[in-house]
Amino acid sequence: MMSKVIDGKRISKEIKDELKEKVSKLAVKPKLVVISVGDNAASSVYVNQKEKCAKYIGLDYSHMHYDSINDDDLIKVIEKLNNDSKVNGIIVQLPLPKGMNEERIVNSIQKEKDVDGLTYFNAGLLLNNEKCLVSCTPKGIMELLKRENISIEGANVVVIGRSILVGKPMMNLLINANATVTMCHSKTKDLAKITKKADILIVAVGKKHLITRDMVKRGSVVIDVGINRVDGKLYGDVNYDDVYDKVRKITPVPGGVGPMTVVMLMTNVLLAYENQKK
Ligand code: NAD
Repeated sequence: MMSKVIDGKRISKEIKDELKEKVSKLAVKPKLVVISVGDNAASSVYVNQKEKCAKYIGLDYSHMHYDSINDDDLIKVIEKLNNDSKVNGIIVQLPLPKGMNEERIVNSIQKEKDVDGLTYFNAGLLLNNEKCLVSCTPKGIMELLKRENISIEGANVVVIGRSILVGKPMMNLLINANATVTMCHSKTKDLAKITKKADILIVAVGKKHLITRDMVKRGSVVIDVGINRVDGKLYGDVNYDDVYDKVRKITPVPGGVGPMTVVMLMTNVLLAYENQKK
């Protein structure tokens, strides 16, 4: 019998090795540049994970850090990278320090190098079901569903959380894959009534154990995106132990969606590289 736990760590390792194999055959290595500004403990953890993964795969990786920089100067840095043919992917680590215009800065990244899929251009392409660079977390969730043979077409999928980073691109990917999608958020009334109908429930809120046993459908698939650090320990948005024997499949936190997000960034760098070669 297949395991009930969707092992994102194992699946992400498989993908990492597939990418490593691909990169080893390339004469010129795809290049990713990560830009970070200021001092944010969570961000530096994420940047380190990206660096480790990029190096494992064999990408050309560069991290540009600024203790502080103004919007115009940062955009000049990005434009220089846009015009550098050796650079295939650029990301700006979010959040930027307070007062910086994230929207303007992110949208200054050339759409072909936008490996976080956060520019309006790529978001618009996704909305129109066109080929594009897709935000890494929802892309990773689609890959998990695919590799676990969970069928999406016609399924009732409930997404909780409407962020630009996770919830909204998730909704579009699912609609494009022919699911029937219900989008819930902080103003949704009677959340449990909706979640109980979900064949697949995807939770991206950031509230420890928001989802309890009474809120899930028996035999459903639960994808927990939440990362909540409480007293140095990580918790998901789903009360894992509470729902475990009621569901068909579930992602743990940590070790579920998180590792997929990092490796999808690398998948996007390779995709950007291949598209730029054409
Ligand atoms: P966000 O803070 O931008 O958005 C949270 C969303 O939750 C909002 O749309 C809000 O309407 C909704 N919400 C808030 N309270 C709610 C409630 N009581 N009921 C229903 N909906 C409610 O968050 P985000 O950036 O999408 O991140 C969500 C969570 O996922 C966070 O814990 C974050 O750390 C985590 N995350 C994990 C990964 C990963 O790779 N595993 C990646 C990105 C984000």
